[in-house]
Amino acid sequence: MDDLTPMMKQYMNIKAKYKDCILFFRLGDFYEMFFDDAILASKELEITLTKRDCGREEKAPMCGIPYHAADSYISKLIDKGYKVAICEQLEDPALAKGIVERDVIRVITPGTITDLNALDEKSNNFLSAIFVDEHGVGIAFVDISTGELYTTEFYGNKKDNMSFLLDELGKIVPSEIITNSIVLEDEKVSKAIQMAINPYIDVYDEQLANVENCQEIIAKHFGQGYIKNSGLEDKKYSIIATGILLNYLQDTQKITMEHINDISFYLPNKYMVLDINTRINLEINETIRGKEKKGSLIWLLDRTSTAMGGRLLKNWIEQPLLDKKEIEYRLDIIEKFTENIIFMDDVKNCLKEIYDLERIMGKIVYGNCNGRDLISLKSSLYILPKLKQLLIASEDPNLNEIGKNIDTLNDIYNLIDKAIVDDPPVSIKEGGVIKTDFNGEINELREMSTKGKEWLAKLEEKEKERTGIKTLKVGYNRLFGYYIEVTKSYLNMIPEDYIRKQTLSNSERFIIPELKEMEAKILGAEEKLIDLEYNIFIKVRENIKSETRRIQNVSKIIANLDALLSLSEVAYNNNYVRPELNSDGKIEIRNGRHPVVEKMLKDILFVPNDTHLDNKDNRTIILTGPNMAGKSTYMRQVAIITLMAQIGSFVPAECANISIVDRIFTRIGASDNLSQGESTFMVEMNEVSNILQNATENSLIILDEVGRGTSTFDGLSIAWSVIEYIALNIKAKTLFATHYHELTQLEGKIKGIKNYTILVEEKGKEIIFLRKIVKGSTNKSYGIEVARLAGIDEDIINRANEILNQIEKSQGFNGSLKTDKEMKSKETEQLNIFEYNISKIIDRLKNIDVIKLTPMEAINILYEIVESA
Ligand code: ADP
Repeated sequence: MDDLTPMMKQYMNIKAKYKDCILFFRLGDFYEMFFDDAILASKELEITLTKRDCGREEKAPMCGIPYHAADSYISKLIDKGYKVAICEQLEDPALAKGIVERDVIRVITPGTITDLNALDEKSNNFLSAIFVDEHGVGIAFVDISTGELYTTEFYGNKKDNMSFLLDELGKIVPSEIITNSIVLEDEKVSKAIQMAINPYIDVYDEQLANVENCQEIIAKHFGQGYIKNSGLEDKKYSIIATGILLNYLQDTQKITMEHINDISFYLPNKYMVLDINTRINLEINETIRGKEKKGSLIWLLDRTSTAMGGRLLKNWIEQPLLDKKEIEYRLDIIEKFTENIIFMDDVKNCLKEIYDLERIMGKIVYGNCNGRDLISLKSSLYILPKLKQLLIASEDPNLNEIGKNIDTLNDIYNLIDKAIVDDPPVSIKEGGVIKTDFNGEINELREMSTKGKEWLAKLEEKEKERTGIKTLKVGYNRLFGYYIEVTKSYLNMIPEDYIRKQTLSNSERFIIPELKEMEAKILGAEEKLIDLEYNIFIKVRENIKSETRRIQNVSKIIANLDALLSLSEVAYNNNYVRPELNSDGKIEIRNGRHPVVEKMLKDILFVPNDTHLDNKDNRTIILTGPNMAGKSTYMRQVAIITLMAQIGSFVPAECANISIVDRIFTRIGASDNLSQGESTFMVEMNEVSNILQNATENSLIILDEVGRGTSTFDGLSIAWSVIEYIALNIKAKTLFATHYHELTQLEGKIKGIKNYTILVEEKGKEIIFLRKIVKGSTNKSYGIEVARLAGIDEDIINRANEILNQIEKSQGFNGSLKTDKEMKSKETEQLNIFEYNISKIIDRLKNIDVIKLTPMEAINILYEIVESA
């Protein structure tokens, strides 16, 4: 270190504290990176790598970016999985004695990025802290761009803790997780987190994770007594997770985050549980195939007008409710809106005017808002009185109440209206932000500067006259200040008192003492004006910051209204109905539709279907029917209608009475976990095992072709025993699609099992899908017909039919049910598609007249058999 220049020593000392970050070291108008950081960043950001003298013989690698363009470079690095530490100059370099004082003012990580260009406006960006031990789990998560902070906890055995953790994380989808090491030591869990969420993960110092320490951190942020007053006293795991989270924010953000002013605790049983697979299978946020938003449930339901409403609706969809009252509240309001379209439009038109108040507040708290943000805030507030009036005038008590609760924030509106010009510049450091008449001193300085400019115009006229040079001009640049410019052809006409300052190719620039005197006055006034405007802007900003909570309250009301309005609009436009809710275990749907498939079909009409499920005689539906008939669509439709009802949305059906379910489980298709080193069958069995362990009588289970990833008899046996176990022991409402027609024999043998099939019509070689679900079963899979439809060569199709005939003959495997004994004896038997050779051989042997057979013929036959085997 001794051989380094003083500035490099300073750099090294700071870098030593932020080893895991790329250090952005402020030098004048640039952020510079040195040594390994420079090599890395120059590669990742595609910027030139240079060198700088550092005191050593070998120069230090260096690269830099202009400070005003830093945001986009930072986002790029964060996106690539790095952390960035911003090191600023803490004093004015002009006034510094010796080396300028510098330090890190903020560390930016995936979970703490606030650059709005890098954030999705309709999704929260959550940073999550986890604390797990052998008795429980605490999870806390925060979105620092909006100020929301949530926490929950769970107490169970190790396995249940981890499964709770995964379910919660699947819902939160944090972009960054800090955790104690126990989570990462569990290979299965850490792999699952990476596969499904892929967050930035870091382990925190475990010594921090004790209740007393964390209580103190919480008290420091929220005030003494907060924990007690908000009923968190006995929530030990939540306290630890929240404390760890706040501690991390203090370490990285280094500001008091006034917008984080509440801890929202929720009990795990407040919401329907959806595991990660089910979220994927039901295509809640994106489609399975293309990973696209279009075609997902959120794509269908999101017609929100504000970013806040969009984020809230997303959270609602992620967390369907269990409390009937809460659901009915949403449904009541949606019903009101759908009954009065004009009113709905009026409210929507108001909401369209409202900007992202939560994130504007985030910027205000961070001190990086500009005049334009305040104007956005103002124009959002402008509409509030009208909105309030509209809601109060409506006859609905709920909407009335919402209207009454809207604080129209007139004082804040007036402050911005008086202080900030209507069209402010991007920068707050170059003046032109504060309105004339807001402050006396500003008026005076502006007058001085205007007068000065008038004086300059007059001077120009005067000098033109005095010199006779018509093209003479008074101009200004930053380097030389005000000057008089004369083109070269007139140089012979300049008076003696002109002092030459600068020579250009076509002209020369001069000054005169009179001009310089005025310059001092004008520039002095402008400089003061800029300083004053900046200081006033900061005061206005601080004033608004002190009202954070009031603005947040309004944001919440707006978000709520917007999410409800979105569901109302979708309900109205698509002909959905209000579901009834029951707690008798019944799911009765008349003419239900799959809302997304229906939307995507465009020209084809979706065929609606009924559903009857209960906890007694109709708790398990065994659904058979050909491939492509619509089995998957139907089962998902039942799950999605139930989910939508519990979100508090209307549903796509003629009428629906939905039992509130505690969980929805799905086992659909082959999820591709192969990169985790598990076979498709293993993944399938893992998922089934999860269902069998966690489903209750109040759950809804969707199983699509369980057991198909192994040999037929293995698969059939597993499917059989799974269905038996669910129907007899768990008693959850279950839809089970299968090609094992044998399973349909369970109807009548096990209580609650009912067979359904999807109708198809055969027309010669063709099959027509009717998409209608009816009672009963089919023993035909039409797999080969579907293969033909898919365009497989006719020769191959014919050959497949031939093989099928032979298999059916030789195995007696014609769809009829084996006795239990037969089942058992076959349990280990694997159906081999080549076994039809054996039946050929047997056929051949049967046709031999042994009495007449010569030894030579016998040998020949034997030879042929050996050849063909
Ligand atoms: P399966 O699971 O039986 O193989 P799917 O549920 O995947 O069949 O359905 C295949 C296709 O049929 C779907 O992609 C959809 O386009 C169409 N479909 C399914 N159900 C219906 C319906 N009720 N009305 C109209 N089209 C449907």
